[in-house]
Amino acid sequence: MEMRLVDIHAHVNFNAFREDGDDVIKRTLAAGTGMILVGSQYDTSRRAIEYAERYPEGVWAAVGLHPIHTGEEFHVDGEEIASAGVPGFKTRIEEFDYEKYKALAVHPKTVAVGECGLDYYRVGPSRLGGRAEADKNGVDKQKQAEVFRRQIQLAREVKKPLIIHCRNAYDDLYEILKQEHAGPPVGGGGTIHFFAGSWQDAQKFLGLGFHLSFTGVITFARDYDETLKNAPLDRIMVETDAPYVAPVPYRGKRNEPLYVEEIAKKLAELRGISFEEVARQTTKNAKRLFGLD
Ligand SMILES: [Zn+2]
Repeated sequence: MEMRLVDIHAHVNFNAFREDGDDVIKRTLAAGTGMILVGSQYDTSRRAIEYAERYPEGVWAAVGLHPIHTGEEFHVDGEEIASAGVPGFKTRIEEFDYEKYKALAVHPKTVAVGECGLDYYRVGPSRLGGRAEADKNGVDKQKQAEVFRRQIQLAREVKKPLIIHCRNAYDDLYEILKQEHAGPPVGGGGTIHFFAGSWQDAQKFLGLGFHLSFTGVITFARDYDETLKNAPLDRIMVETDAPYVAPVPYRGKRNEPLYVEEIAKKLAELRGISFEEVARQTTKNAKRLFGLD
């Protein structure tokens, strides 16, 4: 398959695609777009591999435990999910089992460990309120950091890069990546998925040798333009995070990997270069970082 684009972060392995996941994958591959299916827990990680095994080329897996599944249970029905027509769900707490994840991580179709990282969006005074809860927040953060560090360790052991989720926690993320020497040459580096920080944040992660990847948000929000214009072209990649955050003109619909094209188009427009150039360079970056062939 001649790969024109790669969606480096999609969740066709989630229930939103339970009925038609293979149809979605087939039409994406037919358009010359490859994809990495990303797990957020043990079962969705395993399902990502099962999908990848069914396709001789163009579909790979990432395995990991998302920070929202490391702590207290809560109902997810955020605007971004509801607007995509995807029903809310209850997070399920999972203890990180290193050996179980290692068995998935060494699989030949697995090209990264993740998504893993830090998510402070739902911890903090706005949600829990009051002083008494402050310690509780501290514990949540500690737990997230601990589970994340173990996955950094796993990535290093299996010699695969990280796919990092980070929400409202860029300072702590930077400290952990630095302390753990997660970037090259000691670690395998990786990408900060759904990058939503400032250009100043971006430079810190680029400085550690990490890549940044961007979703459909860049087609309707202008907050990332400075980073999109200035980041080195050999360190950025495109992704959908399907089924969430569909790009313009599909906003409000269920997102799918095929739509990664719209994100590449926007990137080309912002940088004043051709779509072909963006496609060629971001595909080259994905192949190099994840060892896709
Ligand atoms: Zn994701």
